[in-house]
Amino acid sequence: MTPSPTLPWWQNLTPARIAALARDDAVALLPLAAVEQHGEHLPLSTDLDIALGLVEAAVPQLRADVPLCVLPPLALGLSLEHAAFAGTLSLSAHSALALLEDIGASVARAGIRRLVLFNSHGGNKALVDLAALKLRVAHRMLVVRAHWFRFAPPPGLVAADELRHGLHGGAVETAMMLHLAPHKVRRDAIARFESLGVRMAAAGRVLGPEGEAGFGWMAQDLHPSGVCGDASLADEALGARLVGHFAERLARVIEDARDFDLAALRTAADDVP
Ligand SMILES: [Zn+2]
Repeated sequence: MTPSPTLPWWQNLTPARIAALARDDAVALLPLAAVEQHGEHLPLSTDLDIALGLVEAAVPQLRADVPLCVLPPLALGLSLEHAAFAGTLSLSAHSALALLEDIGASVARAGIRRLVLFNSHGGNKALVDLAALKLRVAHRMLVVRAHWFRFAPPPGLVAADELRHGLHGGAVETAMMLHLAPHKVRRDAIARFESLGVRMAAAGRVLGPEGEAGFGWMAQDLHPSGVCGDASLADEALGARLVGHFAERLARVIEDARDFDLAALRTAADDVP
């Protein structure tokens, strides 16, 4: 996806305009994604396309009094679980954490103290959680951990089983791609890819890939094709509704980040503001 020219990109501003945003107590948003295999029906850019598509759909929904700038997206993420498939580009956990700490430090140096890490890739979850805490400690800034796939899903739109087991390249991601970047979807390769998790759940296991108790998995463990979920449930209309729903949630998260009382971030336990 070509980054939208209409987004309020950080890199399009000047030092004086960044300083003005800092005075306005703006929110900075960093889109986080991955460039990794999503089977033969979806492109390597799927997570990046979805992240930017949701940001683009969220921005027009923001309250007028919420100044926002969007940092250059971090296209690459932690994709070790997809390393067995050609095309996956992965950072090491060490490099990725260092990158997030460096970007956060630069944002803090500019005087901006509200940062939303908006993530579209499951493999980045632990990284985002750790980076948010380290940046909070180092810069006493608000760092929001926002993963769209952790937002409350729209009721009744996608079956609970598919939400639970269609972790990668299933109905949800395929539908959103049919809406956001239909030219990149290979419709003849869309199929039902049943996850190992479906069989474990059917056998009554508490343990599952992302169950109450999970385990470290490689994509090929869940399905030999590297994707899992029923992509055949996806269509463009479902994608449009999902994008609309998750973008609305993201807009509310950005507004909540703006409204958050920074005095709650104390230097010491007894530092009552
Ligand atoms: Zn994905």
